[in-house]
Amino acid sequence: MTNVTFADLGLSNRLMKALSAANYTTPTPIQAEAIPVLLDGHDLLGIAQTGTGKTAAFTLPLLHNLEKTHRPPGQRCARALILAPTRELVIQISESIKTYGRNMQMSQAVVMGGVGKRPQIEKLRRGVDVLVATPGRLLDLMNLRHVDLNRTEYLILDEADRMLDMGFIRDVRKIVAKLPEKRQTLLFSATMPGDVAKLAREILDNPHRIEIAAKTVAVERITQQVYHVDAGAKRTRLIELLAEPGFERVIVFTRTKHGADKVVKFLAREKVNTEAIHGNKSQGARQKALDNFRKGRTRVLVATDIASRGIDVDDITHVINYELPHEPESYVHRIGRTARAGADGIAISFCDVSERAHLRGIERLIKRKLDVIGEVPDDLSAPESKTRGGPSRPGTGFKKRRRRQRRPDRRAA
Ligand code: AMP
Repeated sequence: MTNVTFADLGLSNRLMKALSAANYTTPTPIQAEAIPVLLDGHDLLGIAQTGTGKTAAFTLPLLHNLEKTHRPPGQRCARALILAPTRELVIQISESIKTYGRNMQMSQAVVMGGVGKRPQIEKLRRGVDVLVATPGRLLDLMNLRHVDLNRTEYLILDEADRMLDMGFIRDVRKIVAKLPEKRQTLLFSATMPGDVAKLAREILDNPHRIEIAAKTVAVERITQQVYHVDAGAKRTRLIELLAEPGFERVIVFTRTKHGADKVVKFLAREKVNTEAIHGNKSQGARQKALDNFRKGRTRVLVATDIASRGIDVDDITHVINYELPHEPESYVHRIGRTARAGADGIAISFCDVSERAHLRGIERLIKRKLDVIGEVPDDLSAPESKTRGGPSRPGTGFKKRRRRQRRPDRRAA
């Protein structure tokens, strides 16, 4: 939080009222820096992840500017377009617009895959002030001439890195090409790999740059622990952990959808109240699982990385990485689900032998070692040569057994 107040930032009275109704007293650093710049009409490059308050940082000035220059949007048009990679994130942004715009008459539409097109087309027919969309479905509706962006004044790309990871780059470029050159453009990304930087150069005009380091956002406030464990013992460890006091609202991350379903199955057998959220679930099922989790009806939510970006639930006590992600950046995103809105949190990562390289990658990225809890495997402290073929290298033992089995065959032949 900052020493600045929302009143210092120049937001309209209607927005100020909505903020006090939401119990926001102080702007977060990204809000304090971004809001004045955006009210002045500048483009913005924001390097920040969820949990920093970035949604309000772009939504508040957007609503302020839209109201100040009020005009009817025009049929099938949108005055502002917000693009986000996942359906969850789209819904979350749309909810924020409702919350902050509660004292205004802003119309908005949500366009995303996984649900019927008809209601979305209907909503767009008379035009809207704000359109929040995932790129695939939006392009689809644009090609069918249900959306016209040639009078759009504001473009916001949220989680651009994830958008590119998910293969939306071509769709995004096609969409942006339909917007007028004269517009205000904002791009937010948690990381800045080369292709995101290139996109930013292409679409932003002399942007103001704000970087809220991931380190200071989440990593420093979160207790981060690693549990070295055999792959086969992860289930038991998870069940034991979840039985400990304090594990009140927990997200368990797996790398794959299949893995998530397996975890849900064995936890359900242990009578742990749990649900999964991943890309194979229908939009309705994902939303319901998220809702149950948010309302405390489900204690443990099992999620994959793609689904995790949109999870905006306060008071998550623990994040458990049942499997380590292959991209170190995903680790930071995962653990950022806890320690939201100023709270502290605990992240526990399971690491089997095959995941140690990923652990090293994560520790390099966050520039610190995770605290080891539980037993430290012998071979982690011993030199490599002494451990070769030892008990924690199951591959080697397996090869030996196969060689022994083959010899008698060769003699027989
Ligand atoms: P975001 O980074 O936009 O996903 O926001 C993270 C969380 O912080 C959300 O639950 C917001 O409702 C909350 N939040 C955002 N800004 C503030 C603020 N200034 N004061 C308190 N909570 C906030």
